[in-house]
Amino acid sequence: MKTKSITEPPWDEPLNGISFKDLFDAVTEAMLLVDACGKIVMANPSALDLCGYTLNELRGHEVEAFIPQRFREHHRCYRKQYLENPRKRPMGNHSNLVLLHRDGDEISVDISLSPITIQQRIYVLLVLNVIDRRSQAEYALRESQERLWLIKQMIDVGIFDIDCVNHKIYCDERLQELCGNSVNENITLNDFFAVVHHDDRANCQAAFDKAINPHMSGEYRTEFRIMQSGNQKERWITILGETQFVMGKAKRIVGIARDITQRKQREKMLQQHRNETETLFKQQVAMITVSAIAHELNSPLTAISAYSEVVLHALNETPIDCDRAREAMNGCFEQAQLAGGKLYELLNFLQHNTAEAEVLDLNQVIEDALLLARGDGYGGFNLMLELEPCLPAVNANRFQIQRVLVNLIRNAVEAMRTANIPVSEITISVETLAKENMALVSIRDNGPGIDQDTLKRIFNPFFTTKPTGLGMGLSISRALVEANGGRLWVDPDFKQGAQFHFTLPFV
Ligand code: ADP
Repeated sequence: MKTKSITEPPWDEPLNGISFKDLFDAVTEAMLLVDACGKIVMANPSALDLCGYTLNELRGHEVEAFIPQRFREHHRCYRKQYLENPRKRPMGNHSNLVLLHRDGDEISVDISLSPITIQQRIYVLLVLNVIDRRSQAEYALRESQERLWLIKQMIDVGIFDIDCVNHKIYCDERLQELCGNSVNENITLNDFFAVVHHDDRANCQAAFDKAINPHMSGEYRTEFRIMQSGNQKERWITILGETQFVMGKAKRIVGIARDITQRKQREKMLQQHRNETETLFKQQVAMITVSAIAHELNSPLTAISAYSEVVLHALNETPIDCDRAREAMNGCFEQAQLAGGKLYELLNFLQHNTAEAEVLDLNQVIEDALLLARGDGYGGFNLMLELEPCLPAVNANRFQIQRVLVNLIRNAVEAMRTANIPVSEITISVETLAKENMALVSIRDNGPGIDQDTLKRIFNPFFTTKPTGLGMGLSISRALVEANGGRLWVDPDFKQGAQFHFTLPFV
């Protein structure tokens, strides 16, 4: 034991029977008393327990001797600053305060500082509180929750956590809000699907089934509308989650949800504009083409009509004026030949700029056409692609075949949308017709299909059942496929929707 210095306060002297030391030792918190030079004057049994030293080993040593080397210099400066304005306060700001145990372990502590003046000398009382692992973890968790909360606020997302085993879903406050506050924090999956608009429910369920399928990517991605009551505005939500699989079984899907109503409204508006512009453009093209044909055919038809009248007159005369009739019939023949020639010239002129055929990977053309169709607003269907991996190249014009595919996809999507098909599906398959040395592409949908009457006229120019349709899509598509050496037809026996096929010759 160190000898007590003469100037040291009388710690052991009792006042009303209790000495300062008695009180100091009785406190359960670990406490150190440090003088103005930073030397430890007293340590209570809890402090000794905490750092594993005896009182003799501590007393008279600079307090920095009991913290790790890397903090010592900084601590000395801190101590000096503290003594310039000593007051009761915690040390640091929940930053890592570390005490060195005798055996070298570092102990994380919270320290509060209180200045005590005894006999005009200032001492600092250090009360040490061990931060145990649990509170450290709680602190870290709180911090990460705060960070997550800040991020959520910034990107405005809701969070969900699906328990795939018990079919329950946790929805955070924002997601509850997005769902019009018609769901609680913890609900069953069925209750959740019940707030999805009935037209989008099957899609949402199908995306979920796909997400929990261990043979798929485990991504849960879907867009849906929320059931709204009365004349509330339509609200669109997108969700994106990732499935956690344990032993090949989906256990949990955690993800985020976002309000995409504005984006959907913009897309809808753009789509409407695009459709209107395209219809207008097609009408202009049709009108110009028809006027050009009318212009070319007008004079020969007028002449044929006049010659026919002459023939009728000549036949009505008695005796029949055979020479006149023959002459007029010759005129008819010549004018009909002329009309045919003019039509031929016109077609030649229109075909003058047709693009060249090239060696094409049909699988790639299909992928490109799907991208184009989606970009044009004809997406949102479940796609089944049955491509042939080693398909030989075909000989065709890329842009014309893309146009045909986009037309067929577009027709399928429009038919399914008009019929409000809950889960719209399009299957595109490619196979080889070995005998004919051709590739066969089939496109089928699960829409309303095509009735017998429509089937008969479907490839006629200007035949349409759509309010703003022009009825040129299929006739142009057929002409394009034929120009590339193939055929396009509709399957009259397909009953689960509509199915179109076309062929193209291999190189
Ligand atoms: P438009 O699309 O302008 O009507 P099309 O020539 O492309 O012109 O199509 C003609 C008609 O064929 C459509 O109006 C529609 O009645 C029918 N049709 C085409 N594809 C489908 C399909 N996948 N399902 C049902 N009907 C279809």
